[in-house]
Amino acid sequence: MTSTRLQASRVAVVGAALADGTTEQVRPDVTVVIERGRISGMWFDGAAPDVSDLNMTVVDGSGTTLVPGMVDSHAHLSMPGGARWIERGVLDATDELLTVGEENGEALVRAGVRWVRDVGAPQRRLANGRHRPLNLVLRDRWLGLPTRPYVRAAGSWIGADGALPPGLAIEVAHAGNLIHAVGEQLNQGADLVKLYLDGPDRHIAPFSIDEVQAVVALAHERGARVAAHASSLSGAVVAANAAVDSVEHGFVLDRSTAERLAANHVTLVSTLAVLHSVQSFRTTTTIERFASDANVSAIAERRECAEESVRLARDAGVAIAAGSDFGGGSLRANQLAWEVEALVAAGIEPHQALAAVTWRGGDLYGDRDAGRIRVGGPAHFSLVHGDPLVDPSALWRIWLTR
Ligand SMILES: [Zn+2]
Repeated sequence: MTSTRLQASRVAVVGAALADGTTEQVRPDVTVVIERGRISGMWFDGAAPDVSDLNMTVVDGSGTTLVPGMVDSHAHLSMPGGARWIERGVLDATDELLTVGEENGEALVRAGVRWVRDVGAPQRRLANGRHRPLNLVLRDRWLGLPTRPYVRAAGSWIGADGALPPGLAIEVAHAGNLIHAVGEQLNQGADLVKLYLDGPDRHIAPFSIDEVQAVVALAHERGARVAAHASSLSGAVVAANAAVDSVEHGFVLDRSTAERLAANHVTLVSTLAVLHSVQSFRTTTTIERFASDANVSAIAERRECAEESVRLARDAGVAIAAGSDFGGGSLRANQLAWEVEALVAAGIEPHQALAAVTWRGGDLYGDRDAGRIRVGGPAHFSLVHGDPLVDPSALWRIWLTR
């Protein structure tokens, strides 16, 4: 829940442990003092001055762990998720998707997610007659609202003709139109470019290394970043060699591609929880795509391969950030904790998995305050029960958040 006590103009949280993804173990008995929304002091190991007589609200955090406000590096704010996530994004009315977006914004903050990187939204005709990607509409609406997360958004997906569900994305018939399409999204105000590097045949990348390098050059010149969707190896190879800013999903990597990602400082954004989620649909839905025997084993194989790919990336020294893929996958907006669990289940150390949803995500987001707890920074954090550096399911057990 959000807390009125934590919203007081001067507040001290005492007695909590701290887990911020920079250490392998929690730091006990931390005191954090907040003044007008920013952290003005932080002490460890019980070394804090006596805060009881300083005319501030004191919150006894003993028995909780303080974790930074989280960063969801792969989200789709204007879509609801669930087992029919694609239909929802294609068929649902514009007003409904914007209402869903508001619900998502509220759910994110309650779940301790304060920064969101939206990597694709439908572009729709608005009431004013203008066509605009819905993630940019939500981002602009939420600017300065304390009840909504900070957002950087990609506008719509850009992919090759036939690669994405019809009616969802910006499709280019040939690579010659790619730069123009990228320029249009940047002109709309996109903070990043979402490039879809699965082709109509998923195993053939639709654009060459040179073509993607030209996109990266244009985006960087305009102060934007490039996020490349690659669920197969061919797209990941192009993304790694073109030195995009991030590979999204990266479900199929090999050692040399992982090494190339590391050498070119490309962040991997993991989205493993989607595979856990669709596995659960075997018994919770009757949808053929998830429930038939052939598809059940294909999804299981896909997950095994994706988990091995994350380990290869980790071993090669690739920076790993994490996203829920809510809306553009089956997860919901308040389920980023599931991705941390999925990373740990894949063999990633809990502190690295926590880093992926905090400071690593902040680095990719491009804000040194995002996902970090530091004196002078904004006071966005949650108090959870349990030790997330031993058991990541602690991130579900939020007592208070701000
Ligand atoms: Zn996605």
